[in-house]
Amino acid sequence: MNRAMRKRLGRMIESKGPAIRRDTPQNELVDTVYQRQYTRALEILQLPEDPARKALRLCHSVHAASEEAWVLGRDLFQPKIDCRTGCAFCCHVAVRVHILDAIGAAAPILSKPFHYRLESRRRQDLERVFQPCPLLVEGQCSVYAQRPVVCRGYHSREVAVCQQRLDEEDAQLGVPMSLELYGLTGMPQLATLNILTELGIDCRPVVLGLAVSALQQNFEGMVADWLEGGPAFEAVTVLV
Ligand code: SF4
Repeated sequence: MNRAMRKRLGRMIESKGPAIRRDTPQNELVDTVYQRQYTRALEILQLPEDPARKALRLCHSVHAASEEAWVLGRDLFQPKIDCRTGCAFCCHVAVRVHILDAIGAAAPILSKPFHYRLESRRRQDLERVFQPCPLLVEGQCSVYAQRPVVCRGYHSREVAVCQQRLDEEDAQLGVPMSLELYGLTGMPQLATLNILTELGIDCRPVVLGLAVSALQQNFEGMVADWLEGGPAFEAVTVLV
């Protein structure tokens, strides 16, 4: 982390941090989840560790907090969830994730064969891809413990709609889900990304498969450049 970044980090540590609204149980939960991860991410960023270790620690902390938020949110919102073990209709997409998620997903499969190509990185083209995610192996997520936050929060109230969406390749057909639960699960990531953005670190979304491919070539170098505010992921970002 360069000097300017360290200064910005110091200012964030000294500030009071995000406040917690206590007007409704929902707002209190959302803000508490956000604040906890905000504090945790600042702690991790101060550790004297090498960049790859630090990025993975950050990623794992987001995943653990998302997992916890999912359980708390499910109890509070009690949505109907129609997802079942082995169901992978929603894994047939060109998954777009944040860089931290790509780092987390790439780490356990660095030495495994992995190939992924796409014609276009434009958002509107990515939305029309209905091929299996390259991390889906024999119908199961091969990096389940390290799956991205978007995959953790995704769920469906009606699995028939997921199947119809895939069968008809209809990108307009929205999967019915509890947006409160989905949003809450994403709060730890939002807290972390807000800090990284403030530090000047690239937080643009990337195409998961392309990012994992690139990371397999030079994991430590890409992560180190990224945490220094460099453009290491430029070639795999989603184009608007
Ligand atoms: S990363 Fe795993 S859970 Fe996410 S879309 Fe790919 S196979 Fe599915």
